[in-house]
Amino acid sequence: MSNPSLMPVEQALENMLNTVSKITDKETVELPQALGRIVNRPVNSTLDVPGYDNSAMDGYAVRSSEASKGASLTVVGVAAAGHPFNDDIPENGCVRIMTGAPIPNSMDAVVIQENTEANSDHSEITVLQDVPENDNIRRRGSDIALGEEVIPTGTRLSAVDIGLLASLGIAEVAVFRKPKVAVFSTGDELVAPGDKLKSGQIYDSNRYLLIAMLEKLGVDVVNLGRLNDDLDAISQALEDATQSCDAVITSGGVSVGDADFTKMALEQLGSVSFWKVAMKPGKPFAFGKLKNTWFFGLPGNPVAAAVTMDQLAQPVLKHLAGEKHISSDAYQAVAAEGLKKRPGRADFQRGWLEQNKAGQLTVSSAGSQSSAVLSTFRRANCFIRLEQERDTVKAGEEVTVLPFSTLLR
Ligand code: AMP
Ligand code: MG
Repeated sequence: MSNPSLMPVEQALENMLNTVSKITDKETVELPQALGRIVNRPVNSTLDVPGYDNSAMDGYAVRSSEASKGASLTVVGVAAAGHPFNDDIPENGCVRIMTGAPIPNSMDAVVIQENTEANSDHSEITVLQDVPENDNIRRRGSDIALGEEVIPTGTRLSAVDIGLLASLGIAEVAVFRKPKVAVFSTGDELVAPGDKLKSGQIYDSNRYLLIAMLEKLGVDVVNLGRLNDDLDAISQALEDATQSCDAVITSGGVSVGDADFTKMALEQLGSVSFWKVAMKPGKPFAFGKLKNTWFFGLPGNPVAAAVTMDQLAQPVLKHLAGEKHISSDAYQAVAAEGLKKRPGRADFQRGWLEQNKAGQLTVSSAGSQSSAVLSTFRRANCFIRLEQERDTVKAGEEVTVLPFSTLLR
């Protein structure tokens, strides 16, 4: 059943990833602007964390050798967070200590309050259990050691990363320049939302959808608008995009219809390949280079445009942006119902993933799988990815599900 003129999805991805090299320009951003940016060189700690030995509990700092069961110790002072106790401590002395307070000199354990008994004026305690050395002490550098790599190159900074950087006193971070990505749509039938539709016209949804997805991806978007099926206009827009953009993404005009001027313009301008990718939706797909600008030609049907943006363009744009982790999460789930499928292309069906009462992950179809029906996406939370050669799926069979990436949420 496999059609040799179709390119498997994995191969399409591999071809692109092997061709595109990442942006080399870098810039420095301050922490409040760093969320979602991609780290350009490893961040190493300039501190030990914690910065000093401190107590993990409320209790008494002791010398473990003096704190065996039944021992009596004299309380010689108090150490609290922000208020260290710095005096020398005599034999059989101890210090009342609070969580986070530095461990006083020569003390090597903290006995928790519950394992002691204090006399009436709290000047003496009796130890109720042997206290092991190091007990309840958070040692200097035990979380992060000075010089240790805390964030590797290619990390997309998360909220947790920003907090971690702040905890190390790091105020700014070196990141890759954001890729600049131009988007336009082509088609005589397309009308911008807000304008009146005439007979035979439809609204240009792809440009808005794709730009929103790109904004989620954290690239700088250049909106080049909607173009008529006109060779000169399309050539001009492509020419403009190559002046200042790292990538250009179009939708429509890459199949074999009569009005596919995008294809003609591309053939004149650069080296772009037109692929028939073995995926459904999303078969027609174009990729290549126009001068120094990468080109992604997505299919015109809105669902196909979104799926190819998510599954094919997204990983390549992440790679271009310098990101290391570009693959998406995949799980196995049980089909809660039969799923129609024909061998020959890998399906990316819109599905609804949930956990049933028995705790099992199950998935069902979100509705019409037509590549023109965008509304099904709203009822879906994942793709059901069915292998190229797989036939119809029966209820109860295992399938691979890809929870929607942040681009589709
Ligand atoms: P094409 O590849 O240009 O032949 O387009 C395939 C289908 O997608 C046609 O039904 C187009 O009307 C539709 N289409 C193309 N571009 C868009 C767009 N920007 N927004 C919505 N539908 C589109
Ligand atoms: Mg068209």
